[in-house]
Amino acid sequence: MSALSNTPRGGRRNRRFRHIPTGLVALLWLGLATTGAQAATACNQDGDCSAAEVCHGAQGCGTGVCVPAFHLERFVIGLPDLTAYTAEVISTLDHTDPFYTRCCDTDITAYTGESAARDANAVFCPTQPTLPGCYFGNCQCAFRNPAGTPFVVNGTYASPFGPEYLYYAGHAGYDYNYPAATALVAGRDGMLCKALDDPINGHFGAPSAWDAFHTFYIDHGTFAGRGYASWYLHASDLDGQDVHGGNLADLLPGQCAPVVAGQLVARVGNAGTLLPHLHFETRVYDPLEGAEAAGSKVIDPYGWSGHGNDPWADPNENPQAESRTAPLWLACGNGRVECGEECDDGNLSAGDGCSPTCEVQTPGC
Ligand SMILES: [Zn+2]
Repeated sequence: MSALSNTPRGGRRNRRFRHIPTGLVALLWLGLATTGAQAATACNQDGDCSAAEVCHGAQGCGTGVCVPAFHLERFVIGLPDLTAYTAEVISTLDHTDPFYTRCCDTDITAYTGESAARDANAVFCPTQPTLPGCYFGNCQCAFRNPAGTPFVVNGTYASPFGPEYLYYAGHAGYDYNYPAATALVAGRDGMLCKALDDPINGHFGAPSAWDAFHTFYIDHGTFAGRGYASWYLHASDLDGQDVHGGNLADLLPGQCAPVVAGQLVARVGNAGTLLPHLHFETRVYDPLEGAEAAGSKVIDPYGWSGHGNDPWADPNENPQAESRTAPLWLACGNGRVECGEECDDGNLSAGDGCSPTCEVQTPGC
């Protein structure tokens, strides 16, 4: 979501006939997941599984044994060589404040721990408004770096007001700045569904979330007993074909079809907003309830790399969000050595011993 998608919250449900119901998807994944785990290593936490891993981050601890961990295999903007650490982020996910409802709160914190607070140089909201005057859409605050220097975030951050402003308070996802019609691809295999409901962003009186923001998600299934899905907003339309050759654009809200990692699924657009961009989120959900259930929670695909505690570690900070440390993206620059990498120092800088392509370099070269 971004500026000017400012219609009121709420809306009626309109559950249409659907060929592949979204509720069934979760049960199908659950059935598949129970057949996979055999002869696994015992564990109490994710770290216990690292020693046996070929590639760090590939396994996590689920109900006492090491099982495949969830990760995103591809970046979701389909441009050559673009990764989550080279893509332009124009709005970061805010680790403080409940999403949207307190958008005029006093601070913003990115996954790096970088933080900014309201002051006289805040954009849009220099002073705390008097509630109930502040709701999503009429106040999307950007706060200046107290040092006056640019924020780093993923390394390629640029808010509409410049990189020295964090944007924006209460934002539930990442906005990637790419032109209309740019290809959007699946980050991992799964069932792509046009969303009826969206417990995070709502559908603002439209018959479905798809109608409101062209909201769709890819349900990646169950890992260590929890469901994972990636959500996309504002696409111009779906594009490409499912694994059976059906046109994804023919799906109706509430219908789903299988897709594979890296394939074209949609195009960047501005449905329900002003300027073309992709709003992207990753979420966890209860497999028995499904990806659209009210209890699903946003997780940060970049993890948490701040020095202090993630504010989300306090369940009272934001009941719609859940803290995790490790990034979901498999990519050079995430600070985790993965398959095909010699090193990963958490940046894409040259001359620091690990190259921008995650090969070991002699320092200074
Ligand atoms: Zn957004």
